[in-house]
Amino acid sequence: MVQFETVIGLEVHAQLKTKSKIFCGCSTEFGKGPNENVCEVCSGMPGVLPVLNEKVVEYASKMGLATNCTVNPKSVFARKNYFYPDLPKGYQISQYELPICEHGHIDIVLGSDTDEPVTKRIGLTRIHIEEDAGKNIHSAAENASYVDLNRTGVPLIEIVSEPDMRSAEEAVAYLKNLRSILLYLGICDGNMEEGSFRCDANVSVRPVGQDEFGTRAELKNLNSFRHVQKAIQYEVGRQIDLIEDGEEVVQETRLYDASKNTTHSMRGKEEAHDYRYFPDPDLVPIVLDDDWIADWQMQLPELPVERKQRFEDEYGLSIQDAEFLTSEKDLADYYEAAVEAYNEPKKIANWVMGDFVREINQSGKLIAECAFKPEMLAKLVQMVDKDQISNKIGKDIFPEVFAEGLDPEKHVKDKGLVQISDTSALESVVDEVLAENPDEVEAFKGGKKKLMSFFMGQIMRKTKGQANPGMVSKLIQEKLG
Ligand code: ADP
Ligand code: MG
Ligand code: ZN
Repeated sequence: MVQFETVIGLEVHAQLKTKSKIFCGCSTEFGKGPNENVCEVCSGMPGVLPVLNEKVVEYASKMGLATNCTVNPKSVFARKNYFYPDLPKGYQISQYELPICEHGHIDIVLGSDTDEPVTKRIGLTRIHIEEDAGKNIHSAAENASYVDLNRTGVPLIEIVSEPDMRSAEEAVAYLKNLRSILLYLGICDGNMEEGSFRCDANVSVRPVGQDEFGTRAELKNLNSFRHVQKAIQYEVGRQIDLIEDGEEVVQETRLYDASKNTTHSMRGKEEAHDYRYFPDPDLVPIVLDDDWIADWQMQLPELPVERKQRFEDEYGLSIQDAEFLTSEKDLADYYEAAVEAYNEPKKIANWVMGDFVREINQSGKLIAECAFKPEMLAKLVQMVDKDQISNKIGKDIFPEVFAEGLDPEKHVKDKGLVQISDTSALESVVDEVLAENPDEVEAFKGGKKKLMSFFMGQIMRKTKGQANPGMVSKLIQEKLG
């Protein structure tokens, strides 16, 4: 049996968070009525001239610097010609032969939930600037189609990877990493469902040991990480089946259908020459002097890799925990604010990664919208740590204080949940439980030490989980010798 290896290269389109469009002054605001954000330039009227938005150059360059690319001192806009109703000019302004950034890489962490995670380097071929197209809206009820040009001319960067990924998991890890960098830079909102972070996956297979790549299919319509994973897995299986049946994979563009979890052919893959690329005569080349690039380099914030390393060094976290906590900027900020309030980094990490993340995911909220502030979480962890409440009570009240944004200290007082650490109060409960269970007491004295957890359970039930477990266990030991 021939073993196959998967080869994947990704093309990512990221919408840049500028206020205005790339070549005109129209707003980029999302959710406006159809064609409200449109002018002569972005609707493709004849005789107008594009004027480049400087922020776009800055953002694209910063992404290049953050991904170890060379920022080219000179890059050129090109026209990519094709006809489609959502593209009124008949060409998209993009970059072709001379993109703004090239030859980068990022390092992804694989097997992040195992003991020995490995780091793998994925090459970035290029990053180029382009404008987005509009949107066709088809109404079955009216048997009509509409064109909305609000998105026409919204700035994009396309980030093209080398064919360096070898599994769907690697592809997803790479995408999450890129998205995280974009969010740290604050240049893209990363929303996959709304299409501000989109990905096409080029997938091929080849017999293990073969040097040449197999023929690839390009998968489109992948609007979540899950879809990326599923679509690649399906496509790999399809291609292997074809080859094993003696058939050939054809180079084409395929659409992923999430409801059926399959891919189907959309069109034959167009070649670059189909687009008749040529330099756009309306736009001068982008020429960047070293000072500008050096300035942008200086302005880069701490990036996910650096923050991950700092979390390991400064807080003594494992590589997995550091990776998890820094993957999203908001989560990392939340964590650090909590540690600031109560300096127990590992304990805080456990509560943030466990209870907090579970609740925030269930609520469907963004961390920014969360009423339960980092200081509140820190207070809760501190109360458990200082034996003011039991761990169990801490876990029990978490969903409520989280949802309502309550001060855990006040909540615990109001509800009378403070841990009973008062020896005399505990002693009477312990005596009661021992008196009620003479057989178990005898068995314990006879050496059945496992009954400790039975007694503990009884005492916890009577105290509604408020007994200090350490003290209870000590009292039982004393009383039963
Ligand atoms: P195009 O622009 O026509 O889509 P490119 O040559 O620029 O083609 O490649 C696009 C993407 O496809 C890149 O991410 C590249 O890594 C990837 N790629 C190229 N060849 C293969 C292959 N045989 N298998 C998987 N991915 C590939
Ligand atoms: Mg392509
Ligand atoms: Zn406009």
